[in-house]
Amino acid sequence: MKAVMVNQPGGVSALVHVDLPDPEPQAHEVVLEVHSCGVCFHDVLTRNGTLKAGVRLPCVLGHEVAGTVVALGSHARGFKLGDRVATTQRSYICGHCRFCRSGFEPLCTERVFLGDVGLVGGYAEYLAISADCIAQVPDGVDLDHAAVAACAVGTVLNAIRDVGKVQMGETVLVTGAGGGLGLHAIQVARLAGARVLAQTTSADKVDLIRQMGAHEVVLHARGEPFAPLVRELTQGRGVDVIVDNVGTLLFDDMRKSLGIQGRWLMIGQLNGDFVPFNPAQFFLKNQSLLSVTSTSRRQLEDVLVLMQRGQVTPVIERKLPLSEVAQAHLAVEAGHTTGRWLVSPR
Ligand SMILES: [Zn+2]
Ligand SMILES: [Zn+2]
Repeated sequence: MKAVMVNQPGGVSALVHVDLPDPEPQAHEVVLEVHSCGVCFHDVLTRNGTLKAGVRLPCVLGHEVAGTVVALGSHARGFKLGDRVATTQRSYICGHCRFCRSGFEPLCTERVFLGDVGLVGGYAEYLAISADCIAQVPDGVDLDHAAVAACAVGTVLNAIRDVGKVQMGETVLVTGAGGGLGLHAIQVARLAGARVLAQTTSADKVDLIRQMGAHEVVLHARGEPFAPLVRELTQGRGVDVIVDNVGTLLFDDMRKSLGIQGRWLMIGQLNGDFVPFNPAQFFLKNQSLLSVTSTSRRQLEDVLVLMQRGQVTPVIERKLPLSEVAQAHLAVEAGHTTGRWLVSPR
């Protein structure tokens, strides 16, 4: 099969086009014929060497995959040949540790992140994956949309609904609102009944951000403060919840934007930088720092239902052939994308 491998971290030339043997399913696995795969900032961080934890090279990147089941292992349950499925961000979970048993399988101690380990990822024609790590795609949901359901939408559903417990009437600030997570976070926060403030430095993304349901757009020049604008929009109180898709780059302004008893939901970190802070800045206001990583299968299934009902619209900007994956990496790395880019081996 055709695949794109990373042998050594580096620039986009580290994405090497190769022919690999077609995968055979292990007992608990299914083999998917890949229809499309989202290109995530995570892929850029793995490829350029910023992300090292849990990475084992050489690897075939790609953890946002939708496709069709073309082979089943002897113990793979719940799926049949021809099923349309979408992946979570993992290729393996143990299924019986305390996290797997309590709905928190993204934290499984034996988890394998799909695409970061070995020659198992979505930048390929086929993919062998544990049946525990995929979900059926309901009728009426396009496979291109299903590909990004877990990572681009499920992660913010996890943050906003399950960890942040956003309540009707609260005010939510979404940072990096024009990005792949941000555009979906706006929709999910709005569905939760929140007033949504959307931070961006891209004037050209403002219309789309409003279309997604943002009540207010916090537009500012790169490197300029935005907390005063948030304060103004909240009558000086600050927001109840921050959905933080950016991380340290905006740290101080996010801190100044968060109100008393605010919850800070950390999802994204775009570089390897650290920030200093004083814990008293948070506890004197009873603020909570919370965090989320990836998506359980249950959350993926819930997102797919929201898509089927039209309550969440996945924002796909472009779909490229797998042969042009380097172009997608350049665009995602430069922050030039508006919504997800997909690659497809078909
Ligand atoms: Zn992703
Ligand atoms: Zn487990």
